[in-house]
Parts: sequence; structure tokens; C-alpha cells
Amino acid sequence: MHELGLARGIVDLAHAAATEAGAPRVTAVHVQVGRMAGVEAGALLFSFDIAAEGSLAEGARLVIEDVPVAIWCPRCNAEQELQGIQRFRCPVCDTPSGDIRRGRELAVSSIEVES
Ligand SMILES: [Zn+2]
Repeated sequence: MHELGLARGIVDLAHAAATEAGAPRVTAVHVQVGRMAGVEAGALLFSFDIAAEGSLAEGARLVIEDVPVAIWCPRCNAEQELQGIQRFRCPVCDTPSGDIRRGRELAVSSIEVES
């Protein structure tokens, strides 16, 4: 389960942020998870609780923001959001595109600490 490794990275970041802010603990961590990031939300939540034990992030809420996949369509000259990840074609004009602009990220967007 690679989510545990990812969760450890998230906890390290949150713990460091709280330490830097001189805060007693982390209350929430927001992460953006792309639909193509290969991360299972349930497994990440579960892993986060385990990884956070004993750190300043223990008991913090992990808020997962789902990021849909978007491709760049050269014909529309615009970014287009896909409904699924089976077909890499523009949903508007049906032009194929492998130019993925969003949906692969796994990034901490914000960390809330107790002040
Ligand atoms: Zn298009």
C-alpha cells in the first residue's frame, strides 16, 4: 500500500509547518488528489491516521480535494475536463489528446494549525 508512504510525507510536512508556526498541533490538512494520481482516498485517510500517530498532526482531519483530469485540446485551444480516464478525447469536439494538464497531482494545498 503506497498510500502509507505518501501519508508519511504529508504528515512530515504538516508536522514541520506546525513546528515552524510554534503551534501545539495540526487541526487539518488539505490535499489535492488527481483522479490519475493512483491514490485511493480511503486508503490515504486510513494511512494518514496511522502515520500521524505521535506527531503534531495526530488527530488532524485530512481533507481530500478531488481533482478531475483535464486535457489540452489543440482544436478548441482550451483545457477540457474529462468525465472519466478511459478516453483521452476532447469532450467538446472529440479530438484525441494525450496532453494531460491536470489530474495527476498529489499536493498539500493548505495546513491548518491550532493557534
Ligand atoms: Zn476540443
